[in-house]
Amino acid sequence: MKIPALLSLFCAASLAGAQPAVKNVLLVTIDGLRWQELFTGAEDALINKEHGGVPEGAQAGLRAEFGGATAEARREKLMPFLWGTLARQGQLFGNRALNSPVAVSNAERVSYPGYNEILTGRVDPLITNNTPRPNPNVTVLEWLHGRPGFAGRVAASAAWNVFVPIINVGRSRLPVFVTLQRSAPGAVSPRIAEIERWMQDIPPISASESFDAFAYEAALDLIATHRPRVFLLALGEPDEWAHAGRYDRYLDSIRRCDRFIRQLWEILQAQPEYRGTTALVISPDHGRGVLGADWTSHGRKIPRSEETWLVAMGPGIAARGERRDTAPLHQAQIAATVSALLGEDFRAAFPDAAPPVSDLVGPAGR
Ligand SMILES: [Zn+2]
Repeated sequence: MKIPALLSLFCAASLAGAQPAVKNVLLVTIDGLRWQELFTGAEDALINKEHGGVPEGAQAGLRAEFGGATAEARREKLMPFLWGTLARQGQLFGNRALNSPVAVSNAERVSYPGYNEILTGRVDPLITNNTPRPNPNVTVLEWLHGRPGFAGRVAASAAWNVFVPIINVGRSRLPVFVTLQRSAPGAVSPRIAEIERWMQDIPPISASESFDAFAYEAALDLIATHRPRVFLLALGEPDEWAHAGRYDRYLDSIRRCDRFIRQLWEILQAQPEYRGTTALVISPDHGRGVLGADWTSHGRKIPRSEETWLVAMGPGIAARGERRDTAPLHQAQIAATVSALLGEDFRAAFPDAAPPVSDLVGPAGR
């Protein structure tokens, strides 16, 4: 009996190699969410007026909602899906207290350079700020869209409207929703048209961004109408509230991001087309500072704002949970990782792109 059993194991492994278990990837970005909150939860030193901008009357309630004696207790309150489900089924990199560093490669530590790094697998030294210039580089979204089996099956929804130039919608022609957009009549689905009407009636957070709820709701519609194999959901509120110096709203928006991701994951898992064949990859675009008011900001002048994190789960990704003592990872590796999960070789087209994360796609991750 031993030989046939071994043979069938061998055959299963060969098939897995030829036909990746992952058929779809949901890539989620959370703008400016620090690894400190992801791995240790709410920071008590910021639940005050002086450093965290938390109104007096809200401090006790915030402590009750997000506080806890241990990092484990606090982080589970802040991101219950990541620590309840993803930590059991996938892997979390970036806890520097456990010697698992993740960082941006670009020197700018701001959003457009970060998203360019995530989506193109490399640093473009000419992208130094958030000026909404059409991206000269081809993203992994655009590249996969040109691969067999992906035509018409790649889409994105983003809170930040600079994703239109980041994904270079003019060239890539990908369906991309961004908040604050106003489409011509008939150019979008009835549901997106309704979301656009709501957005007109609600004050935006900033000149380039409205609430994550709009991007989330649009994502549901885009997934229902386009049946994407690759989908980017780019959430943005945590960065906005942090810049505003409001630690209470920053925490609240992080918990909402976690809930949106859980809901989307459950909706996908309820559909035969996605159940058991979809991988989830989540990353921020940069970190933030740590001391005094530095937590509100990031960039070249803010120490430690290059520090990020990366989490993933899905078929074929080993359930190794919170990682420790890992080789340094960079967010430029995400493009090739997303491709490799789908059985596609991004570096064959872009040899200077960073390699995939071997613990997620190589033999070590299987
Ligand atoms: Zn920012």
